[in-house]
Amino acid sequence: MKKKVYKAHILYTKEQSHFEVLENGYIAVDADGRVMGVAADLSSLDCANAEVTDFGDSLLIPAMNDLHVHAPQYRNQGIAMDLELLPWLQNYTFPEEMKYADSGYAERMYRRFVHDLWRFGTMRACVFATIHTDSTRLLMQLFQEVGMGALVGKVAMNRNCPEGLSESVEEMIQGSAALIAEYNKAGALVRPIVTPRFVPSCTSEMLRACGELAAKYQLPVQSHLSENMDEIAMVAALEPDSTCYGDAYDRYGLFGQTPTVMAHCVWTEGEELELMKRRGVMVAHCPTSNLNLASGLAPVRTFIEAGIPVGLGSDISGGHDLNIFRMMVYAIQVSKMCYQQNHDRKFLSLSEAFWIATKSAGSFFGRVGSFEPGYEFDALVINDSDLNHDHYSLLHRLERYIYLGDDRQIVHRFCRGQEITEPTI
Ligand SMILES: [Zn+2]
Repeated sequence: MKKKVYKAHILYTKEQSHFEVLENGYIAVDADGRVMGVAADLSSLDCANAEVTDFGDSLLIPAMNDLHVHAPQYRNQGIAMDLELLPWLQNYTFPEEMKYADSGYAERMYRRFVHDLWRFGTMRACVFATIHTDSTRLLMQLFQEVGMGALVGKVAMNRNCPEGLSESVEEMIQGSAALIAEYNKAGALVRPIVTPRFVPSCTSEMLRACGELAAKYQLPVQSHLSENMDEIAMVAALEPDSTCYGDAYDRYGLFGQTPTVMAHCVWTEGEELELMKRRGVMVAHCPTSNLNLASGLAPVRTFIEAGIPVGLGSDISGGHDLNIFRMMVYAIQVSKMCYQQNHDRKFLSLSEAFWIATKSAGSFFGRVGSFEPGYEFDALVINDSDLNHDHYSLLHRLERYIYLGDDRQIVHRFCRGQEITEPTI
């Protein structure tokens, strides 16, 4: 790859409090796909002889990151939205995930899933697959072929689930080791992530084995935490020695000993909040899922004030929407409901929601989510001419795109400096 320069209206959030806005600005990207600098004029960038691509009146912004999504639930998107977590798992989610024992079925569905992440401008994702090693490998291959970044987890589970979705600890270790040997390469865009489904699905032996894998290979960890009151009660009964749900992961080395992201955290408070803060555990806030499954309103302002890192997750198919821009809108709306309940918890501003979705979430993948020097150039070019029918400011144009736009306005997508073209279904 050669050095590149792009010209457009550039918007991004270095800090959560405000946007950086460059009207007709330039951004230089080096041969490794990293941002060299952003400037109002070309002469102040060190890029003599570099090719300049002019995107005209379009907006250039960091690409989206999805910190929590279940690839094998893609077919269930928009189905069974009238249930709570535990019956929804038993009646819809588990039966669908069992089909991924068939690699042919997995390929058909996973191609569609990867295509649609691309469609909505999500260039990095933390993804749950299933227990099935072959179809998990297939999903990793698909991401790699397309050139998008993903941490993909073969799911570990061996209790409170149907026979067809239960794997012995030995089988989990063997399957995971095979994927780790193939995909755990430093600097690779697609890597494995240790993925115990959640405490109710994993015996102590399974949780211990997951913690050992994370420590041995220095792999990140993803799971679910404090989503629903019945689930929390179930964890307290299954792991009676643990002092809180988070502690039930922590005692097995699955809570920040390596980079960790926990989905939901709707009911996290007190000791669990302190533990997350101490361990630097990241929250994947999934507002649509929390509304659909009647889980509750996650206290995002509390996390931000505690210095706990937060990103956004679509949580397909508890969530029905894969579009992370729309997730910003839901996150703002949920924060307004929290504010309505307690005026000490100020609701999210647009720049905060954007920063959460880009720079904050991106930090889980490395230097991703901003246009500061050294950041990987993950970017979207938005041609909002159909939404820009009057003299809107650049910030209002971005806000209108976030609230009103969709995939039709995204005209180019970049991941680590490389333009990502439409994947085949
Ligand atoms: Zn989930």
